[in-house]
Amino acid sequence: MGSRRDFLQKLSVSAVSLPLIYSPANLFAADSEPYDGPKLKVAIMGLGSYGTRVAKAMQSCKRATLVGLISGTPSKIEKWKTKYGIPEKNCYNYDNFDAIKDNPDIDAVYIITPNGLHKDQTLRVAKAGKHVICEKPMGINAKEGQEMVDACKAANVKLLIGYRMHFEPKTVAVIKMRKEGMFGTPKFFQGQSGFTIGDPTQWRLNKELSGGGAMMDIGIYSINGARYMLGEEPIWVTAQETKTDPQKFKEGIDETIQFQMGFPSGAVANCLSTYNMNNLDRFFMTGSKGYVEMQPSTGYGPIEGRTHEGPLTQPHVTHQTLQMDGMAALIFDGVQPIVPIDGEEGVKDMKIIDAIFLAAKTGNKIEL
Ligand code: NAD
Repeated sequence: MGSRRDFLQKLSVSAVSLPLIYSPANLFAADSEPYDGPKLKVAIMGLGSYGTRVAKAMQSCKRATLVGLISGTPSKIEKWKTKYGIPEKNCYNYDNFDAIKDNPDIDAVYIITPNGLHKDQTLRVAKAGKHVICEKPMGINAKEGQEMVDACKAANVKLLIGYRMHFEPKTVAVIKMRKEGMFGTPKFFQGQSGFTIGDPTQWRLNKELSGGGAMMDIGIYSINGARYMLGEEPIWVTAQETKTDPQKFKEGIDETIQFQMGFPSGAVANCLSTYNMNNLDRFFMTGSKGYVEMQPSTGYGPIEGRTHEGPLTQPHVTHQTLQMDGMAALIFDGVQPIVPIDGEEGVKDMKIIDAIFLAAKTGNKIEL
């Protein structure tokens, strides 16, 4: 088992050969060093459950800082203002947040609201001239995603999607191993993503606000994971849907979908997305020379896993802290993560989701 020092040494060597690729190790290595560069000044829109997690994680960021709030609930604003020392002039609601365009304290807005609101909110933030960080899924279909990409391009602002796994140390290490050929030619990926959803009245089960069920929320991790674990883009999908509770999972809200993807090399993926089973958070990938399995694979961590050579030992760091520091590095220094996190990356997942829904509905194999 490698020591932390070995790990850091290995990563600093790869940092030399890949100078513009962001590595979580940059942060570990620099832990003891003070950072005095620019900080990405972020306002969070949507002070719900995930927004709360991001705000907390940002307290440990070096390059990003929470400076503003956008919420429809005045009592939440009051509580958060006190907790995080946010000035009143940086607080907005959903009606007046276009005024951030005149607020030099805010560089970027992190949209952490229901999926069905992301597109319009992104367009408004872009119009205000601020960078957009948007949670996954970026919208409710590829058409919306492309509109978001176009709007941010036209406004000359960045559009980044909250793909926190693209900064997670074990995930990053596995992607590097795959790129370096440790698994040989990737042949097969299996992704299982799911949990049992509770409250039937929540927005996640409302088609207008969610755009779909488990696939939009959790199945997207298997889609994105298949792409970064295999290192290819799928060319076809097939899908089968199962619904055991049509009362809870109404028309347009998928409960369970099994789906398959085919890749240009001949590699295949077989995945499960569900709102009706717990403990489904597992990735497996095998190639001509070896394999990797991760379980949990995309939860908040620690991620655990092993390859044919032994356990993955990279340290756990709060994903959202790495993500926000990494996004600041991208915006300020153009440092790219090992797998993209931009709007175009988001659209790729949305196109696959559109195709999976169509495949499940028609029973046809859908070419991408
Ligand atoms: P949540 O319900 O806990 O929070 C949503 C927030 O949006 C709430 O504060 C709510 O008040 C606000 N909101 C604004 N307008 C609303 C409306 N019309 N209806 C309902 N709520 C409204 O949800 P969440 O779990 O924080 O999810 C928010 C987003 O974050 C989703 O896009 C979700 O997919 C994403 N998310 C990402 C991760 C991740 O690991 N990257 C994890 C959880 C959620």
